[in-house]
Amino acid sequence: MTTAAIPEPATSPDRPTWDLYSKCIHCGLCLQNCPTYRVLGLEMDSPRGRIYQVLEVDEGKLAIGESFVTHIDRCLACRACETACPSGVQYGRIVERARAMIEQNYERSWPARLMRARGYRMLRDFKALARSARLVRFYQRSGLQSLARATGILKLLGVDKLDSLSPRIEDDFFFREFGTRYPAKGETRARVALLGGCIASVAFAELNRATIRVLCENGVEVTVPLEQGCCGALHAHAGLRDEARQMARRNIDALLDERFDAIVTNAAGCGSTMKEYADLLESDPAYAAKAKQFEHKVKDVNEFLAALGLRPPVRKLSQRVTYQDPCHLAHGQRIRSAPRELLRALGADFVEMPHADYCCGSAGVYNVVQNKLAMQILDAKMDDVTTTHADVLATANVGCMLQLRAGVAQRGLKMRVQHVIELLDEVYRA
Ligand code: SF4
Ligand code: SF4
Repeated sequence: MTTAAIPEPATSPDRPTWDLYSKCIHCGLCLQNCPTYRVLGLEMDSPRGRIYQVLEVDEGKLAIGESFVTHIDRCLACRACETACPSGVQYGRIVERARAMIEQNYERSWPARLMRARGYRMLRDFKALARSARLVRFYQRSGLQSLARATGILKLLGVDKLDSLSPRIEDDFFFREFGTRYPAKGETRARVALLGGCIASVAFAELNRATIRVLCENGVEVTVPLEQGCCGALHAHAGLRDEARQMARRNIDALLDERFDAIVTNAAGCGSTMKEYADLLESDPAYAAKAKQFEHKVKDVNEFLAALGLRPPVRKLSQRVTYQDPCHLAHGQRIRSAPRELLRALGADFVEMPHADYCCGSAGVYNVVQNKLAMQILDAKMDDVTTTHADVLATANVGCMLQLRAGVAQRGLKMRVQHVIELLDEVYRA
């Protein structure tokens, strides 16, 4: 199942560079901010320990074997360690490169290889994604899902977690909006391109439509460019950097246009990756400069609306609301105040939860592939959520929404989990 290898330097073009490791002064201030360290209490599962292991691999002292892969796989890439680090260690860049080294030098089990090859390829091809989503929708709606759950066959096949944490596929995919322009309401204050996203286009199409309505309501003309693709975040986090680069080039070609003042996304994970396209494409002479221009135009929708100035809604949201910081917004993009400003502008009774910027355990497909650990992390999060007695748990990333909804259901809470933009849309439409 495993191939332990000490890589030759030339075999890992994406390996971390010395300037990335050298900033770590081993102070340990990141440890208690790391969700895996808090749960497992192991140095090898802390940011400092992982950096040390990557360095050992890089120096040829440690093989890329099962132990190394286990500790790197357990990292959520939440980047809470970057926020905590006084030395400015860019941990996200280190772990993505460590994963690239793993993918280039380590042979995973064949089911893992099959799942990864199929899954990641599908995200790059929206026609294939739509076909698969229709099949999943049929499975979810036809009664097959209930039957499979009742018989216990899902557990037998080892896909019960995938089944329970998968999003519900929507009736109308967002792909049909690709190539459409939506006029601003009233005076045009800005023109933007909207990223539809891959999974979001089949499972959160209504959220994308709400995003368009809220932007238009605020005087923004929204275009959903036709040729756009998946942002490549899941590929980059999985160490598939060549695939991520392909997606980055495609999106630069489709979305970088001087007609647009900004490239807007409602998904923290997509925004964080698109703001780092220059890192992915630094060695590509045809795209390196364009990637830098692109990065500057990418805005999370919360960030964009807060900077633009929200048109005050006539109605108020008369509910108690708390907010969960998505890691890739708070730690990846350093955006914390914008979503809170928007929630306060709704007139909601806003209450902070303790440790709002602690990871919820979602992290892309982490909650499926590292389910036990993800659920322990979620459990701690739900302890904090319940102290707020909120009616609404707001967040700003679709992956977090799914994970938090699972947490709310597990606890039997009467609390709805919504994207900040959905709440804005709700009051504008009331
Ligand atoms: S990214 Fe998150 S899980 Fe990974 S080492 Fe840093 S704090 Fe820990
Ligand atoms: S806080 Fe930064 S410098 Fe200190 S151990 Fe963690 S990564 Fe290294």
